[in-house]
Amino acid sequence: KLYNQVQDLKGSIRVYCRVRPFLPGQNNNMSTVDHIEEGVITINTLAKNGKVRKSFNFNKVFGPSATQEEVFSDTQPLVRSVLDGYNVCIFAYGQTGSGKTFTMSGPKDLTETSQGVNYRALSDLFMLADQRKDTFFYDVSVQMIEIYNEQVRDLLVTDGLNKRLEIRNSSQTGLSVPDASLVRVASTSDVLELMDLGHRNRAVSATALNDRSSRSHSCLTVHVQGRDLTTGTIIRGCMHLVDLAGSERVDKSEVTGDRLKEAQHINRSLSALGDVISSLAQKNSHVPYRNSKLTQLLQDSLGGQAKTLMFVHISPEPDAVGETISTLKFAERVA
Ligand code: ADP
Ligand code: MG
Repeated sequence: KLYNQVQDLKGSIRVYCRVRPFLPGQNNNMSTVDHIEEGVITINTLAKNGKVRKSFNFNKVFGPSATQEEVFSDTQPLVRSVLDGYNVCIFAYGQTGSGKTFTMSGPKDLTETSQGVNYRALSDLFMLADQRKDTFFYDVSVQMIEIYNEQVRDLLVTDGLNKRLEIRNSSQTGLSVPDASLVRVASTSDVLELMDLGHRNRAVSATALNDRSSRSHSCLTVHVQGRDLTTGTIIRGCMHLVDLAGSERVDKSEVTGDRLKEAQHINRSLSALGDVISSLAQKNSHVPYRNSKLTQLLQDSLGGQAKTLMFVHISPEPDAVGETISTLKFAERVA
């Protein structure tokens, strides 16, 4: 009963936890996950005098055997609300290697069944738009950007030019990065092509030793405009699908220079995101959107009537337990 009241207060923010399975070749008899029950996950922490269990509450917990389809089916109602004019943000949070990109995009060797939330969301929107075609005309466009060291870059450029973009929330167009390429899409194959371009552009900026994808936030934004064919009324909705930078703490004594700067930017922007979401959850009157590029970018889609879903990812290995606990604590703060 109390749980329901708490959920009502927090209304539009949901938090799902997903546990990555052990990878092929990993010793899989020692997971830090003790058990999962309804929305509760219990972790074995290795304390000095043996095992200590800690439990965390979420709207939903997906165990290591959950399929991409299962994960998406719980996300679908949120995605669909975009066609009714809602703004939606879906985040993937967690340390590097915990499965963020798997959830949002899928694995490297993509198949139909391993497609992640991004592709499934767009293909679902197309399907639903088609079902409504006698009453609504929908126009769907996408942008794809990356935030690295507090700089915003367009990932849908075809000329390889690496121009920096400004965030200028415009209530008129509903675009927060008006200068980023905006590409109209009409089918899932259009979407696949664009995602491919985005991934290639992202890879270009990474050197072999330096996989930048884990240290930047990438955001696929879907803009939907629907026209009611009888009344002519226009509705607009937008959905941000965000693969966040790895949340792991970097040991300041071990990194210097660029690597330290990156780590500080990531830290600051992830805490800014946590601050915004938790102040929304607490219904604070002041929400600190201005503290990072990420929260500025998403300002119109966080809070108000907007709906937010955070997937928090954890790795099952015992040596990740420190990061696992801090990930779950971060999530608890916003959940
Ligand atoms: P992150 O983006 O958080 O750094 P990845 O999504 O790249 O992590 O996942 C790390 C590795 O684990 C990849 O090889 C990925 O394919 C695999 N992986 C992640 N989640 C799952 C899952 N639920 N099922 C199977 N393999 C997964
Ligand atoms: Mg990743």
